[in-house]
Amino acid sequence: MSAPSCDDPHRPGALDIDSAHRRIAAAIEPIEAIERVGLRAALGRVLAEDLHAPLNIPPDTNAAMDGYALRGADLDADGAASLRMVGTAWAGHPLERTIGAGECARIMTGAPVPAGADTVVMQERTTADGDTITIRGGEAGSNVRAAGEDLPAGGVALTAGTAIRPAELGVIASLGLTEVAVRRRPRVALFATGDELYEPGQELKPGGLYDSNRYTVWGMLTRLGMEIDDRGHLPDDRAAVEASLLAAAAENDAIVTTGGVSVGEADHVAVVLREHGDVGFWQLTMKPGRPLNFGFFGRALMFGLPGNPVSAMVTFYQFVQPALRALSGAGYRRTPTLRARTAADFPKKPGRTEFQRARLVIADDGTTDVEPVGPQGSGRLSSMSRADCFVVLPADSEGVGAGEWVDVQPFEGLV
Ligand code: AMP
Ligand code: MG
Repeated sequence: MSAPSCDDPHRPGALDIDSAHRRIAAAIEPIEAIERVGLRAALGRVLAEDLHAPLNIPPDTNAAMDGYALRGADLDADGAASLRMVGTAWAGHPLERTIGAGECARIMTGAPVPAGADTVVMQERTTADGDTITIRGGEAGSNVRAAGEDLPAGGVALTAGTAIRPAELGVIASLGLTEVAVRRRPRVALFATGDELYEPGQELKPGGLYDSNRYTVWGMLTRLGMEIDDRGHLPDDRAAVEASLLAAAAENDAIVTTGGVSVGEADHVAVVLREHGDVGFWQLTMKPGRPLNFGFFGRALMFGLPGNPVSAMVTFYQFVQPALRALSGAGYRRTPTLRARTAADFPKKPGRTEFQRARLVIADDGTTDVEPVGPQGSGRLSSMSRADCFVVLPADSEGVGAGEWVDVQPFEGLV
C-alpha cells in the first residue's frame, strides 16, 4: 500500500509527515533584505554574507600551557637537557628577544612563542636552579598553537546563512568586527480564533476559556527570533476573520493562526483561506495535530494550526519552526531525533505517527531514559509543561514497553 497523499481519493487531503515537510521546504523563499547590526544584536539573526577572517586566529603562535619555550633541537629525548633561561613571555606581553641554541624562556599559556623557539615544554617536566633549567624528555614542536591554525587570515570564517548563536558571536568578536550584515527578521502575524476565547484578566463568561494558544505560539515565535505582530483573538465570524487575514497579509511575511481549520460550521479560517488563499488543507497522518492548513495568503506564508492547545504546539514545532527558519535564510532543518530508553510503557494504537509528550532523565546507570508525563489528550496543555521532548512512534507501532529504545525529539534544551 502506498503512503496516503493529497491525491488519495479515499482520504482527501491526507498527507504523511515527510511529504508535508518536502512541500513546505520547497515552497519557501527566504527573505533577502539585509541590514547591518551591532555585534550583540546579531545573536539569533542569520548572517547575510560570508565573513572572511581579516587576521590570523590565533593572531600569534603561542603557548598551549605554562612552561618553557625553546628550540626542539635542544631537547634530549632519552635524557635531560640543560638550558639557560633568558627571559619571560607573558600573555599580552611578548618577550622581544630571539631564543638561541642552548637557551629557553619561561612562558605562560597564551603568550606568543618568542622568535627562534618552536617548542613549549610543560613546567612539570622541568626543574629550575637559578637561570639553569633542566628538562626531562619533551617532544619538538609540542604545546604550541600555530598562528592561524583555527582560522587563517583571508579564509572564510562563517558562511552566509549561518544562524548566529553564542559560538558565532564569539567567532565574530574574535575577528575584531563590531557589526555584521544579517537578513531582515521575518515579521509574523499571530491570531487565535474562537468565540469561546477570553483574554487573561477578563471575566470568564459561561462556556468561555482563556486563550492559551496565543501565548504558547508567541513564546515559540519569540524564541525563534521573529518580529511578532500579535493581532489578538478573533470571533468565529467570517467577515472578521476575512478582514483580519487580509490586513495581516499585507503587512507580514507570515501568518500563524490557531483554531477554525477543521470542517465544523464555525471553522471560518478554513472558509476564508479557501476563498483567498493558495493553501493546502492537509489531514496529516500524525497525532496530535491532524488538520494543518499551509500555503500562501496574498504574499504571506500561511499556517492555519489546529485549535487544540497541544496540537497547535506540536504542529508548530514540527512544521512552523523549520519553515520560519528557512524564511529567515538559515535553511529548512527538521529537528533531529535521538535514541533513548523508555522508563515505562508508551501505549499506542496503530494508524498515525504519534508525538507523545515525555521527559528525558538520566538513569542511575548513566543512560538517557525517557519517561511519560501523563495522559496524551490534545487539550491537556499541562502535560506539555511537564515535557521536554516527544517520543516519536511510527504509524504502524503498537506501542512500546519499558526498557525499549525509541526515537526522541527534544523540543527544549537541545533545539
Ligand atoms: P478548533 O480547532 O477551533 O475547533 O478548536 C479545537 C479545540 O481547541 C476547542 O476545544 C477549543 O476550545 C480549543 N481552543 C481553540 N483555540 C484555543 C486557544 N486559543 N486557547 C485555548 N484553547 C483553544
Ligand atoms: Mg474554534
